[in-house]
Amino acid sequence: MEYVAGIDVGSTQAKGVILDERGNLVSKAIIDMETNMGAAAEEIFQRVLASANLEASAIVFTVATGYGRYRVTFGDLQVTEISCHARGALAEFPWTRTVLDIGGQDTKAIRIGDSGEVIDFAMNDKCAAGTGRFLGAASFALEMPLSELGPLALQSTRPVRITTTCTVFAETEIIGHLAKGHLPEDVLMGMHHSIATRCASLVRRVGLAPEVTFSGGVSRNQAMVVLLQEVLGVPLNVSAQAQFMGAIGAALYALDHVRAGRRPEHLVKEGAR
Ligand code: ADP
Repeated sequence: MEYVAGIDVGSTQAKGVILDERGNLVSKAIIDMETNMGAAAEEIFQRVLASANLEASAIVFTVATGYGRYRVTFGDLQVTEISCHARGALAEFPWTRTVLDIGGQDTKAIRIGDSGEVIDFAMNDKCAAGTGRFLGAASFALEMPLSELGPLALQSTRPVRITTTCTVFAETEIIGHLAKGHLPEDVLMGMHHSIATRCASLVRRVGLAPEVTFSGGVSRNQAMVVLLQEVLGVPLNVSAQAQFMGAIGAALYALDHVRAGRRPEHLVKEGAR
């Protein structure tokens, strides 16, 4: 049996998967990013190997994606996150025509054509207000783990309107609302709403076409799923592997190369979009 790997070195978390030659998910791993992207890439690779009980020699092709893809020195090919998220989304939800990927520091809306090709995409500008980083500020201000933000926000009955559009000031605004007596759940719901509104406008920039698949780490947040469905007015596909969608897409590109009989030594590095 031969195996392929997909390594997604994001700005916040590194994700890795191994697929077997039939495309089955054999193992996955996730770690928080370290300052040294190359070391994080190596560590995530070792973790997926260990969890699959495989040696590195069993992996015949590795595709790297994500912000730090060029730091994956053992990668055979680099492919953009846009292509990889589209590919991963289509593999699980074949009718996907729009992907919304909300990560730790960037958000992307991707339009997919009827043949599965990427036809357009839009990304947040330098501002991180419509990304996971905005929630990171809330997590810090409320001294609460990220995984608890969504469930608490969903208990809100009187959401507070968040006016800051800057992550740097978000923390101050949250503390200010709490000091005025607003409940944490109401402040949090306001934060989630602010992100959802920004992300929805990104989706509209590429043109919303159903089905819409939500990928990236922020899709693990149930309040974001609920709010985005409300703001976009369509149901969202959310996979149990949503945060691994880029890594899975990368591994599927690796599988294409193996199936086409191409081996790493014959490859020229390319930056497919
Ligand atoms: P990147 O690829 O940019 O590193 P990811 O797609 O991996 O980003 O998403 C990371 C973000 O996902 C974090 O910043 C955080 O906001 C969110 N996240 C991660 N784990 C959870 C969780 N358990 N619950 C809610 N949000 C989460």
